[in-house]
Amino acid sequence: MPGDAKALPQAVEVAVVGGGPAGLAAATRLKEHGVASVAVLDREPRAGGIPRHCGHYPFGLREFHRLLRGPDYARRLVARAEDAGVEIYPQTTVTGITPGPRLSLSTPGGAADMTAKKVLLATGVRETSRAARFIGGQRPLGVVSTGALQSLVYLAHKRPFARPVILGSELVSFSAIFTCRHAGIRPVAMVEPGERVTARSFTRALPRLFGVPLHLGTELVTIHGKERVEGVTLRGPGGAEQVLDCDGVIVTGAFTPEATLCRLGHLELDPGSGGPVIDQFGRCSDPDFFAAGNLLRPVETAGWSWHEGVAAGDVLTECLAGRLPAAERHLEIVVDHPAIKLALPQRIALPFSDGALTHLQLRVTRAAGGKLEARDGDTVVWSKTLSVLPERRLLLPLHDVVGKVRGATLSLRFSEVA
Ligand SMILES: Cc1cc2nc3c(=O)[nH]c(=O)nc-3n(C[C@H](O)[C@H](O)[C@H](O)COP(=O)(O)OP(=O)(O)OC[C@H]3O[C@@H](n4cnc5c(N)ncnc54)[C@H](O)[C@@H]3O)c2cc1C
Repeated sequence: MPGDAKALPQAVEVAVVGGGPAGLAAATRLKEHGVASVAVLDREPRAGGIPRHCGHYPFGLREFHRLLRGPDYARRLVARAEDAGVEIYPQTTVTGITPGPRLSLSTPGGAADMTAKKVLLATGVRETSRAARFIGGQRPLGVVSTGALQSLVYLAHKRPFARPVILGSELVSFSAIFTCRHAGIRPVAMVEPGERVTARSFTRALPRLFGVPLHLGTELVTIHGKERVEGVTLRGPGGAEQVLDCDGVIVTGAFTPEATLCRLGHLELDPGSGGPVIDQFGRCSDPDFFAAGNLLRPVETAGWSWHEGVAAGDVLTECLAGRLPAAERHLEIVVDHPAIKLALPQRIALPFSDGALTHLQLRVTRAAGGKLEARDGDTVVWSKTLSVLPERRLLLPLHDVVGKVRGATLSLRFSEVA
């Protein structure tokens, strides 16, 4: 219940920041392994994370072996965690992290502190705002992110506009179409600056299926309207501009990890992923802090984040029992090509052993194809010819890639790019 005034403990074994799929999965796993006190802290009125706001399918296949809507999925994750003995503290915002590990909290009862043996950060991702995308024009009402639209439609039962333009073509942009349909909203266009749809191929037919004109290679340059949105100026592939009538703009995707706590605190951040630097155990630069879920990188599905949370629960249990290899000696993973946006984990604790992350996760900045190489100095220790698109998962088996490395760094580059 919102406002549940459960007394907040001052010290726990594991504090989990963020009650989304990753945090709840980790907390549940920790309790299943017999860890005595596990607290999940979430700033929202209820735990469940982003799926709580997504009133559409498909969630839950990995976790519950059935197709669920987001809110049902979130409720089940919470129920499973509570049944396992996890203590969940909603309306509790973590405002700071310091070595110890120690957390500063803002709670309904005022400011508080909490210490823990270990902390798991699982604060997820957020969409990039209109301001950060340099869209010109006035500041009328009716410009929202997908997340805000979902909260308005599914949680507040509001209909913020009737004929919006959708900016972006990531998976979440299609989830914006579903949300619009649910509320009887008819988008007038989907606008994508790139030359192709960013989401996976099965989604490409959806705009046409739902009667939403798709404008590829098109920029949204200006939003018009003084109080409410009245239209937008679009600039097409040849540079020609047109004004489109609409009464709202849904600014979708361009995700970034919710890493404010890391940025304000003492943890090392990776500019490529936007999340904390971790090793294969999900261990941050301060080894008392771990991270899991979409905080690690933009952006994965709920099922993937849940899976990372489960693995984090296993690793944290090992850590509490003193069975995790030390964090001192590392192999650094270096991204050495402009087509590679990020690589995760950013470092490998040595001597190498499997951890929570069994694969090196890569993302590219643009469509790239060719020979991807992992180099130990001048020696190529692993290579594969492949082609990949932005925002697609690219996984390299960690054991194969780093197993033979003798140096202190492993660099990743495309030797030939198509
Ligand atoms: C708008 C949007 C729509 C999406 N739609 C889909 C979809 O349809 N399907 C899909 O599979 N994935 C979707 N995703 C991806 C989504 O990130 C994953 O589904 C999944 O929720 C990730 O789980 P998580 O536990 O890592 O993070 P989240 O689910 O984001 O949970 C993070 C939790 O941390 C809490 N938190 C953050 N900072 C603090 C703090 N300082 N103190 C306390 N609590 C904090 C938040 O309140 C939140 O509950 C969407 C993402 C967004 C942003």
